Amino acid sequence: MFPPHFCGGNRVKGLGPLRGLGQRPKVLKRGEKMFVDRVKIHVKGGNGGNGMVSFYRAKYITHGGPDGGDGGKGGDVVFIGDESMGTLMDFRYKRMFKAVNGGDGGKRNCFGKDGEDVVIKVPVGTVIREAESGKVMADITHDGERKILIYGGKGGKGNQHFATPTRQAPRYAEKGRTAKEYDVILELKLIADVGLIGFPNVGKSTLLSMVTNANPKIANYHFTTLAPNLGVVEGRFGDSFVLADIPGLVEGASEGVGLGHEFLRHVERTKVFIHVVDAAGVEGDDPVENVRKINRELEEYNPELRKRPQVIAANKTDIPGSEENVARLKEAYEKEGYQVFPISAATNTGLDELLTAVGAILKDYPEDIIFAEEYEEYDEVAIDREPFTIEVEDGNYYIVTGVGVEKMIGYTNIDTEKGFAFFQRYLKEKGIIEALEEKGIQEGDTVRIYDLEFEFWK
Ligand code: GDP
Ligand code: MG
Repeated sequence: MFPPHFCGGNRVKGLGPLRGLGQRPKVLKRGEKMFVDRVKIHVKGGNGGNGMVSFYRAKYITHGGPDGGDGGKGGDVVFIGDESMGTLMDFRYKRMFKAVNGGDGGKRNCFGKDGEDVVIKVPVGTVIREAESGKVMADITHDGERKILIYGGKGGKGNQHFATPTRQAPRYAEKGRTAKEYDVILELKLIADVGLIGFPNVGKSTLLSMVTNANPKIANYHFTTLAPNLGVVEGRFGDSFVLADIPGLVEGASEGVGLGHEFLRHVERTKVFIHVVDAAGVEGDDPVENVRKINRELEEYNPELRKRPQVIAANKTDIPGSEENVARLKEAYEKEGYQVFPISAATNTGLDELLTAVGAILKDYPEDIIFAEEYEEYDEVAIDREPFTIEVEDGNYYIVTGVGVEKMIGYTNIDTEKGFAFFQRYLKEKGIIEALEEKGIQEGDTVRIYDLEFEFWK
């Protein structure tokens, strides 16, 4: 007999880790509008290779034993956090990721090669959700973090494993397991170091355009765009940092009014807030009360947000009459621990002081502050449609394989009446009985499900 060895000529070619993905630097270029923080991709694990049916043949040996080799394991789908990636932009061009299938087993006890993994790099702060259910499957929170999202299918066993004293020449082998596949949504949580929050028209976009290279729309109307505008504040105030203008946070946002949740999702992903308020009260409302309202929205959406550092930028102080409101804002909020900075974004007044203070907060900020999504360990089986396969041998021998049935066999004791009833129900509910009938099974034929062999009676 041959010792186990790799099947020659049964090479499994892999794409290897994807190069060229994730090499993009974090700094956004001037005028760069595209901001991708949510994409849908398709991922599939590699199927296991099939086991082989063969018998040892040599001169003078006519009835050699079974020597069919095992199939190789399919590749895994692996996600890795990569600090150098700033957005999910690369996934606009490539959305299909498949690990390589395992090679089939061969004659003379040779086994199939394992398929290569597919390695997908994502920015740190990426949440991976199953698209259909929205369930969180993984949350990549630090550089180099590895998460195997889908395990490759196990290789099938060759026929040599199925020889028994009563069945010395098994003419069947196990099929490789089919690996799972999912549509998943990648969502980038951390978008910027600092987020500009506040009611519409208070001057957020103006501030962003004054202190960064970004050129956002500045408007005298309450516009709504989904994507936040990002800009880089260059190093004068400590290390340079990314500032995001998050448009459209309005009252009722925490209840999902308008596009409220979308905005709050962005807000959630910044470390420090600059809370901009119109100190001139141009629109006739009270700035002290407005700060309160926005903070209430934040708190209602996620109580964590209220603990996040925040400075208040009392804007439009070039307009006469704003001094009084600046004093009231200081009076109301400094005792609560907020710094209040009178500024005029339009005339570039007070901006250095504001940004210096923000730079200092960021400096003391704990490094690893990506807010981890809370999620239960993902239960793959719950979403799986439990594929199975049926093979027919000799016209009356039916072999059922599949991840679900194998698991079920593992935890069901069919020697008990209860267990047997469960087993029958399972076969029926999963459509296995129906599938067997479609294949032409007759009463009295034999069904094999892994270690279990039984006769089929209705
Ligand atoms: P956003 O909705 O918070 O982004 O506000 P914008 O930046 O679009 O500004 C709304 C309006 O306020 C625009 O007409 C700006 O020109 C004006 N504005 C912004 N900052 C100042 C400021 O410091 N002083 C004055 N007088 N007007 C300002
Ligand atoms: Mg704006």
